[in-house]
Amino acid sequence: MITRTATSSHTEDSTILHQKEQCVHQKEQGIYPHVRAEASWQQQLSQLVSSVDELWRLLDLPQSLLESASAAARAFPLRVPQAFVDKIQKGKLDDPLLRQILPQGLELTPPPDFVTDPLAELHANPHRGLLHKYQSRVLIIAGSACAINCRYCFRRHFPYEDNQLSQAQFDELIQHLETHPEVNEVIFSGGDPLINSNARLQRWVDALLLLPQLKRIRFHTRTPVVVPARIDEGLLALFRSIAQSGRNAILVVHSNHPSELDHHFDTAMRKLRDAQVTLFNQAVLLRGVNDHVDAQAALSERLFDAGVLPYYLHLLDPVAGAHDFSIHDTEAFELYRQMAARLPGFLLPRLAREVPGAPAKQILAPNLSE
Ligand code: SF4
Repeated sequence: MITRTATSSHTEDSTILHQKEQCVHQKEQGIYPHVRAEASWQQQLSQLVSSVDELWRLLDLPQSLLESASAAARAFPLRVPQAFVDKIQKGKLDDPLLRQILPQGLELTPPPDFVTDPLAELHANPHRGLLHKYQSRVLIIAGSACAINCRYCFRRHFPYEDNQLSQAQFDELIQHLETHPEVNEVIFSGGDPLINSNARLQRWVDALLLLPQLKRIRFHTRTPVVVPARIDEGLLALFRSIAQSGRNAILVVHSNHPSELDHHFDTAMRKLRDAQVTLFNQAVLLRGVNDHVDAQAALSERLFDAGVLPYYLHLLDPVAGAHDFSIHDTEAFELYRQMAARLPGFLLPRLAREVPGAPAKQILAPNLSE
């Protein structure tokens, strides 16, 4: 779960490992320590809810669904922070937060047009750990795990094991970028880049800052939404180092529903703004989660209250296992028209679809006057 790193981050990672071993020992004894949002991010990540039985017990879910859920979780594991589970209403199968993490048997029988690599990313993978889809920016696969496993994830089948980066491989990746002066922005994605230790991230950032063409470093992450404590002093120092180099630091969080956001999130976003980080949100339009104008309007308002601009509302990528979240374009456009009527323009995220092989995301512009 936690990416192990070498030498300088040894102490930090040893602590995480020790906490994880302690937790495994407790669970073997049938003890499930409850880790709340106030705990350190290392503690929260080392004690994720990863057992379907445990989720069923915590949320009083129907026993009749347990077996099929267990089968789905064997194909794509359950992983969810306890603080996120705390926000879910017990016994409510249509809770918008539960929907996002609940393994379901139907994931195992996808329709034929839902595939394992919906964005053809394996054709844009010129170097281990690197995706080069667009002209001026590249994406680094900076981790193989996330703080939460979202059932609709378009990378749920991604071969992370073939893309893990040692420091030597990261250095090779830097050499690749040196031969591409047109690349002026690097995006850390994953998995979730903030699963890494601060020491490892700082080593990577320091190497990138030596590239003369670099203008921006962007992080795509859902961790600050589900474990806001991840925005700790070491990470803020990393962001400050980017600003001090004259480059821009951008953090794109991923929240789909206003109920995910709490005062811990607000505090984390305030600290990031103080460290000169530009904050955006990207959401995915998901059936049964946020396919109503009230949820979308409340999400945009709530994000802006925390200093985050709604940036993208993505249509679902047709990944095998996620078809239960799918929404027809006609419905999506109607919802978007309702959002446009409700929200000021700066709170209206761009409705977008990623098209495999296209030079940019497709921004959809339904006729808002209809
Ligand atoms: S956090 Fe992002 S990358 Fe990780 S499982 Fe969720 S959607 Fe996928």
